[in-house]
Amino acid sequence: MPRRCTVCDHLERQSIDEALVSGAPYRSVAKRFGLSESAVYRHKSEHLPAHLLKARKVEEAASADDLLDQVRHLQTHALDILERAEKAGDLRTALAAISQARGNLELLGKLAGELDERPVVNLNVSSEWLELRAVIVGALEPHPAAHRAILRALESVGNS
Ligand SMILES: [Zn+2]
Repeated sequence: MPRRCTVCDHLERQSIDEALVSGAPYRSVAKRFGLSESAVYRHKSEHLPAHLLKARKVEEAASADDLLDQVRHLQTHALDILERAEKAGDLRTALAAISQARGNLELLGKLAGELDERPVVNLNVSSEWLELRAVIVGALEPHPAAHRAILRALESVGNS
């Protein structure tokens, strides 16, 4: 095992990561948090991408859960309307509710499938890719426009 990273072990690691992500130069970050420049630099290129990835996964999972909840909620409503329409002998409304419920089920199935598949198909889990990405992004740092452009491009790859 490599020696421990003083940034990863730092109590304010999250603030440090945020500062680095927001584009603060690693020298000033090192000064602000009382760390060595080389430790911050190493952390930024070797550990930060993985931290970011983990944070994004948690966020994605949370928003997917949210979506699932909403669709489940809609489904409860649709089934409730179906029941009432059936009792009232309102076949037209019952049919509409059935079709709505079927759409919800399809959506639920898709969402559940995505939740299961995501870790497998994600290009970002490759450590070689993380390393390469950190190198590319780091190399473009002195060129803000190019840096922003590559971050945007990488973001869209990550989402596909
Ligand atoms: Zn680290």
